[in-house]
Amino acid sequence: MANLYHIITYGCQMNEHDSENIAGLLEAMGYEYADDAYEADIVVMNTCSIRENADKRFFGVLGQFKKLKKTNPDFILCVCGCMPQQPRVIEEIKKSFAWVDVIFGTQNIKQFPELLDARIRTGRKQMAIIDNNPVVEEDMEPKRVFRHKALVNITYGCNNFCTYCIVPYTRGREKSRTIKDVKCEVERLCADGVKEVMLLGQNVDSFKDAATGGTFADLLRELDTVDGLERIRFMTSHPKDISDDMISCYQTCSKLCHNIHLPVQCGNDRVLKRMNRHYDRARYLDRVAKLREVCPDITISTDIIVGFPGETEEEFEDTLSLCKEVRYDSAFTFIYSPREGTPAARFEDQIPEEIKHARFDRLVDCINEISLEKNKCYVGGTYDVLVEGISKNDDCIYSGRTDGFKLVNFTVPEGIALTDGTIVKVQITDAKTFSLEGRLI
Ligand code: SF4
Repeated sequence: MANLYHIITYGCQMNEHDSENIAGLLEAMGYEYADDAYEADIVVMNTCSIRENADKRFFGVLGQFKKLKKTNPDFILCVCGCMPQQPRVIEEIKKSFAWVDVIFGTQNIKQFPELLDARIRTGRKQMAIIDNNPVVEEDMEPKRVFRHKALVNITYGCNNFCTYCIVPYTRGREKSRTIKDVKCEVERLCADGVKEVMLLGQNVDSFKDAATGGTFADLLRELDTVDGLERIRFMTSHPKDISDDMISCYQTCSKLCHNIHLPVQCGNDRVLKRMNRHYDRARYLDRVAKLREVCPDITISTDIIVGFPGETEEEFEDTLSLCKEVRYDSAFTFIYSPREGTPAARFEDQIPEEIKHARFDRLVDCINEISLEKNKCYVGGTYDVLVEGISKNDDCIYSGRTDGFKLVNFTVPEGIALTDGTIVKVQITDAKTFSLEGRLI
């Protein structure tokens, strides 16, 4: 029987895609996937340092595997992702979790088989962490979670250094793939049945083909010609870099979904400056207006941080007023918490927890009210929905996404079975804050 592996993934879609690549590497080495981490011979923890208390949670889960080392001396624990990119985390692992076998960084994934092999052959711990790998490692064969949709990296790393964010320190400087390589990968995926791609980059708008100088808009136009591809999505856009040329793709690229995630973070210019975001409220609103002019039915989501150091009540109210002006379809809202190693963590005017939480509650109420109002406008209409799965409890209920990324749970008549990845017509019968309900037409 083959040895078993399990991967625990925290964080963003970048990490999810990295885990798909790690799974692909392990399966090429002959390992098989185990649902239960405690039955696996190898566990990989793919970590994230974005969320609050990331250290505490990471070290807590790490500690739980110590007993497996006792009961199974051949058990191998690997740690990768954003946490080990930070020297203080490596120090802590060495000091308190010395039984971790393999540690590798966000830019060392391709080396993982060698490291694992060396650990098995020599019994010695292995570690590889690069801060800034100038090479784009792109010829791995991921084990994809879904057959009908795929994550595709177009850039790695970030050059923006927002003062609250750890990513530029954990994923290195920005590097773009070439349009030719991305297109080849998407063509291969579509030949394998993929209908929808999600293009990934910390800032897709600064994509620049290293060979030709081609832009993100050029890439979208190329991908729009790929046979078999039905939907193109991307994440994340940056308000300072999103160009008119890119926005024009919503008119010219028929496969580009009418949806955008455009993080605003805050509605006040002074706070945006302290966040080092390089745009102001006026620029952000101008981009939203342009998007809606070119693509009137576009859905817009965002990220917002509440309680950034020094944020006054009036400045917070600017965020509320911006939300009311833009009328987001949805938003990911975060209470600011300092990340060690970032400039904002050293700002002296940190906001008391109770004020941050009170502002957060007001913001969530505002966002949810608007989301529900916007979702209600869909009731009665019929939309193309890409089928993503069937309910665990009821064979007559499926879920899927509209072109605008609205989650739809819909009923189908008994006896009809839908395949994931097919696009069906669904009439919307009800609206909730985070989803729509409907029935198959
Ligand atoms: S753009 Fe800013 S928030 Fe996004 S990854 Fe880069 S530094 Fe972090």
